[in-house]
Amino acid sequence: MSEDLRTLQVGAVTVSIINIGDVQEDLNRMFDLPEAERAGHPDLFGQPRRLPIHCIHLGGPGLSVLVDAGLYDYPPDAPQLIPGYQPPLDLFGGLAESHVRPADIQQVIITHAHGDHFNALTELRDGEYLAAFPNARHYLGRADWDAMQKALQDPDSLESHTFGVLHKQNLLELVDQPLDLGHGVQIIPAPGESPGHQVVRIHSEGQTLYCVGDLYHFIAEVEQPTWAVKWTNATANQRSRATFNETALKENALLIATHIHEIGRLQRTNSGETWVAA
Ligand SMILES: [Zn+2]
Repeated sequence: MSEDLRTLQVGAVTVSIINIGDVQEDLNRMFDLPEAERAGHPDLFGQPRRLPIHCIHLGGPGLSVLVDAGLYDYPPDAPQLIPGYQPPLDLFGGLAESHVRPADIQQVIITHAHGDHFNALTELRDGEYLAAFPNARHYLGRADWDAMQKALQDPDSLESHTFGVLHKQNLLELVDQPLDLGHGVQIIPAPGESPGHQVVRIHSEGQTLYCVGDLYHFIAEVEQPTWAVKWTNATANQRSRATFNETALKENALLIATHIHEIGRLQRTNSGETWVAA
């Protein structure tokens, strides 16, 4: 099995982690930090960093949930593209390898409304955008829906082609408080990265896993809790991270982040917390 498709078992839940492709990011563009602080981390700020884009499937008896639905879709001159890199199987190829049919997925949870997390929600067929997971309820943070109202007025926007289509077909649910989906799967609001950002908790047979979305993009952010990407609401983000860390540590939970390769756990250190590979 390739590094781009990994599976693990959390109690009765089979977790498939599908990387739809690596991208590169210049952290100097993402973080507004004083020069002195950047100079202390040459490994992070000295060259572009490579990161995956994970979509996650949760399967088990009576359970088929997808967390995030991204498509590796960059124009040829996009700075995110890594020279010479060939992306792996796309989300649908990864699901097929995991023996999951899109029509069998019951619930799709979008951690937040940034394009790489939702641009595979619909497919263009004969000039019409159709739900890629036609039998699923789709869960989006209500505050992200509210924030995209202007984009939805443009019929050609990505938001209109995806969430707009799902909304019209009555397949979209808006979430603004913790929501239990059954089988130990729960959506928990964790705003900051976006106003409606949410994480997913899976609890089965005494084991706990979180799909944290973009609560953290890099392990360094766990160790430097005041670091925040430029587009985040820093106050909300710090509050979400603090609340989350306390719970995840208590539960000794496994963690999967969209853009962190290592499946990890939080661990206390002398100065705070870190993310250790599990
Ligand atoms: Zn992201």
